[in-house]
Amino acid sequence: MKNIKKMIALIMTLILVFSIGACQPEDVPEDTNDEQAKEGISGIFEGESNGKGGPFVLEVTLENSEIQDIKILESEESSYTEPVIADLTNQIIETNSTDVEVVSGATLTTKAITGAVKDAVKKSGASLVAKEVTEEAEKAEDISTDIVIIGAGGAGLSAAIEATNADAKVIVVEKNGYMGGNTNYATGGMNAANTKYQQDKGIQDSPELYYNDTLKGGKNKNDVSLVKVLTEKAAETVYWLEELGAELSEIGRSGGQSVDRIHKGPGGMPIGTHLMGVFTDQVDKLDIEVRLNTKAIDILGEDNKVIGIKVENKDGNTYNINAKAVIVASGGFGANAEIVTEYNSDLEGFGTTNQPGATGDALAMVDKLDVSLVDIKEIQTHPTVVPIINELITEGVRGDGAILVNREGKRFINELETRDTVSQAILAQEGKTAFLIFDQQVVDTASAIQKYKDAGLLTEADSLKELAQKLDINDEDIENTVNTYNQYYKDQNDPDFNRRKLPVEITNKPFYGVEIGPAIHHTMGGIKINTNTEVINNSGNVVEGLYAAGEVTGGVHGGNRIGGNAVTDITVFGKIAGRNAAEAVKNK
Ligand code: ADP
Repeated sequence: MKNIKKMIALIMTLILVFSIGACQPEDVPEDTNDEQAKEGISGIFEGESNGKGGPFVLEVTLENSEIQDIKILESEESSYTEPVIADLTNQIIETNSTDVEVVSGATLTTKAITGAVKDAVKKSGASLVAKEVTEEAEKAEDISTDIVIIGAGGAGLSAAIEATNADAKVIVVEKNGYMGGNTNYATGGMNAANTKYQQDKGIQDSPELYYNDTLKGGKNKNDVSLVKVLTEKAAETVYWLEELGAELSEIGRSGGQSVDRIHKGPGGMPIGTHLMGVFTDQVDKLDIEVRLNTKAIDILGEDNKVIGIKVENKDGNTYNINAKAVIVASGGFGANAEIVTEYNSDLEGFGTTNQPGATGDALAMVDKLDVSLVDIKEIQTHPTVVPIINELITEGVRGDGAILVNREGKRFINELETRDTVSQAILAQEGKTAFLIFDQQVVDTASAIQKYKDAGLLTEADSLKELAQKLDINDEDIENTVNTYNQYYKDQNDPDFNRRKLPVEITNKPFYGVEIGPAIHHTMGGIKINTNTEVINNSGNVVEGLYAAGEVTGGVHGGNRIGGNAVTDITVFGKIAGRNAAEAVKNK
């Protein structure tokens, strides 16, 4: 991994050099005096900017106006951006310039780093003069392995870890410059039934109940054989993740479930951040080869059998990775508006909660293999996404006590209904958006919610009236609405909308509100697999050597995915794919 990171940094530097041209960076003010630049400024200077999760502070060491070192002092950025931060700081040091390419999917982090370095340089009074750096392009030579995995998200890495532990030689290709895909954005948790943690809390659950909830949530369109595996293997997969280093003992309720079943990261930490930390440590520990900035562009196959993939590296050069098995774990197509609207024209103009790489590349790649696609038109919108900036507010906010009101300050739906029902209800309100309203008690329940506050997403006020005025909603009706809801809390009965879980009264100031609306969130449909994660073609046969797991597949979630089932899906089926592919390649 370290060599790869270094190589990527060098390549990014090369590209940067071409893009910045001959030593005239943006950073040099027009009135730069060459003599002054030559004499230069030396010392250590602190710079600050705003990151995605809060303040971003670093220290720049200058010697003769040349950046020698950058040390991060304070960062609330998600852990998945660590390689991005390392690459960007390397580039800035090597080129002595903050004129770096914005990393897709980590735009705010890129801006946080460049902003803080600019601040430090400004405080120093130095003028940077960019350095020309020439490095060799990345090698693009064909290579062979046992298993090649497309995508370093939760499914791909679960597969990679399991296959490596079963003694297979694995290469993972990831088109982004960092691992994690949409998994990085998973906030809620992981559903599993009848775990020891539920038992400790006296929660009565069973794989059968979980199976029934998943089918009900999925409108009975799910592939029942896959749901059976999902619900029966979830608990053992929780324990498997714990063996790898995860902590999943906290439990909560999420929409569409009849009992508390969602297993959360420590302190309510976003589950994606937690699991990606665990997976990344395993990648290092097991020395799994992950080729970042490497995009799969073709699956090589003949006679209903695959023999590897063709990839393109950051320089645009292509090469083959020959493999005895290919696992497709490239995620969904929620960031590809063209494919989304091709399958559902009603979704034209919707925002997306997906990372920019969720473009459904696999669909074109498997087409020539006549692979069967299932439920491909089933596209889920997440009901609570902040418009324009597309920041998702986790379902946990409602689960932990928030209510939803419209511009009249009135509730209009059971907040814990399934995602599609809540999305439709919001779209029926004036302005096609609504507002989550809650109090300090809800913020205190999870660090994920505190982060929204730190990131400035929440409007805050000491009274409900003031909050309503700030949010531009009816300030009289909101008080009536909350008073009525608080009475329902006392009665533990919601006669208006039959909300089953009323965890707190909305009484403890400050009060919070945030405007939200639905955006494209999850693509339920995709590649057809059997319970061994083998890919099935339109004749109903297995495509030899081809496996798929995670959001790229269809059938597990049917017509609607219930909250907490994505993480279960990617880990249960990712693990199965890794295990089965490793077994299959043993005798080849
Ligand atoms: P899942 O939840 O199913 O694991 P994720 O979205 O978390 O899905 O991860 C899928 C990963 O696959 C993302 O990191 C994405 O950038 C990557 N990916 C998508 N298409 C390709 C491709 N053509 N080549 C390599 N990686 C890809």
